[in-house]
Amino acid sequence: MNLVSVCHSDLFAAGATAHVPGAIMTAFNFPLLRPEIVLEPRYMPGLYGDQLQYVAFDPVTAAECWIPEAEGHIMRALQQLKGPLNRTAIAGYIKLHFDAEIQEPAVDACLARLGELQWLTTTEPAAAIRDAYWETRREVQRGLKLQRLKTSVKRMRKEVPYYRSLLERTHLTEEDIHELGDLRKFPRLSKAQLREHFDTLHPDSLADHQDWWGDLVWRSSSGSSGARTQTLAGVENYSYTLFETLGVLASPRPSRQCLIIPPACTGATCHMDTAIPYENRILFGNTLLMNAFRNATTVSDARMEEYVEEIERFQPVGLMGAGSYMYPLARYIKRTKRRVPKLRFIHLHVEVCSRIHRRLLEEVFDCPVEGCYVSSEMGFAAVECSCGTYHAGPGVQLEVLVGNQPAQPGQLGRLVATTLTAQNRLTPLLRYELGDLAIAAQEPCTCSPLGHLDTVGVIQGRASECIRSVEGRIITPRILDDALTDGSWCANIAYYCLIQQELSRYILEVVPEDREVSIDESGIKTALHRLLGESAEIEIKLREEISPTLPAGRYRLCYSLLDDSLPELP
Ligand SMILES: [Zn+2]
Repeated sequence: MNLVSVCHSDLFAAGATAHVPGAIMTAFNFPLLRPEIVLEPRYMPGLYGDQLQYVAFDPVTAAECWIPEAEGHIMRALQQLKGPLNRTAIAGYIKLHFDAEIQEPAVDACLARLGELQWLTTTEPAAAIRDAYWETRREVQRGLKLQRLKTSVKRMRKEVPYYRSLLERTHLTEEDIHELGDLRKFPRLSKAQLREHFDTLHPDSLADHQDWWGDLVWRSSSGSSGARTQTLAGVENYSYTLFETLGVLASPRPSRQCLIIPPACTGATCHMDTAIPYENRILFGNTLLMNAFRNATTVSDARMEEYVEEIERFQPVGLMGAGSYMYPLARYIKRTKRRVPKLRFIHLHVEVCSRIHRRLLEEVFDCPVEGCYVSSEMGFAAVECSCGTYHAGPGVQLEVLVGNQPAQPGQLGRLVATTLTAQNRLTPLLRYELGDLAIAAQEPCTCSPLGHLDTVGVIQGRASECIRSVEGRIITPRILDDALTDGSWCANIAYYCLIQQELSRYILEVVPEDREVSIDESGIKTALHRLLGESAEIEIKLREEISPTLPAGRYRLCYSLLDDSLPELP
């Protein structure tokens, strides 16, 4: 019998170890639950077998939990009983009010967990309660990650030929890991190495024991940062890593979403421009893959009406995919005032989404729009919080590195990933160089409810898509978009792409939102001069359309024609 928490399952995963005030004494001074804790009974028809559950919320720490019936009863007793009483009073209260039996160990376990949540009565001020709560959760997370890292490295060493010989050569084992920072002793895996040693990057037993692994999928990366890489994963890998990372935000109901991605985004879902029947596009029973269109800047109203009709038919809880490919849908809905079913989330993947697109999605769909960091090689790894910082889930260790050292807060570095879950056991990654950049963030980020997850930083986009200012400063797609969308000058821009032609010469291609209305060229140039340098030569070219040029059909916010490949990049 556990305090099962959809929101905070990680807190309880490592067991109840916190000191419980008064737990060893025979008499308590009731009420034992802080008065701010809101405890509401909820019937959950169907999903958990028509049973009673409670939702508990603490406005002081912003912690929110689903609580099973028995623990809810105990919490009721802790809340309602008054004065100095023996613990048997709890059992009596529950018998009287709920006609249920409760054993002492269940009461003790519940008290221990409430102690960890900082939900027991205390004289501490709110700020101290809040800090203690988040620090406890972060500690539990760090402990869990360290444990998983050691297990993961051990599995790589024992099961995967490539890592076995690599770790033998370097004389390293999981025993060399005493804290997460010890990961830096281990060699990194480049994309080229992943491709070259692909045959030996899976467990030995893969061929002999297909029955162990269940259904498998080959996944190809989009190739947007060079040649494509392939990895092997269980069919459930994506949804599993998504739940692990978003668990804190996930609704207790099963998710259901429409996937709106560029035509060749992943090998697993390659379908180009050929329309596939609706029934054949439902993946895993809960994801509708929308028929892709090649060019988001010219897609027709008729196609968008088909999208709306499919959304009405499928009734998703949310949308996920590329913001640049959702933008025409939002624009169509806004212009025609077409009614669509209410969504509860939009997850942005695939690209650095321009704020131009994000703002319209937020306006039209009126639901949380969350930046997500997902790759075909590692699954769903990190999610953006309200501060704009990405937090990594417990299934992956993300490093932001300058050389082999962690980037300082505010510093630009390269992202490196180590997969930590058994779900990523088929092509496990040890310090894999993702080809993406991030600006490291101050730790910890105090946002709720993601504040206990690892703070990574602000994800900046592909290293291969960076440009440079006239003085040679690295401009990432995120930095460019922030500058270009930070004022009214971007009002009539629907799509743009900045191409660096020479060190001080740039072309900004713009597809206007309304072709009858001019764009604010001088405002745009002022913003770009501020970013790129006053001597930058900037030409704005109005376009009817911009084609996604990469093999993946992704849009890029910028790229460079210079071939000196950003020499000073960390
Ligand atoms: Zn945060």
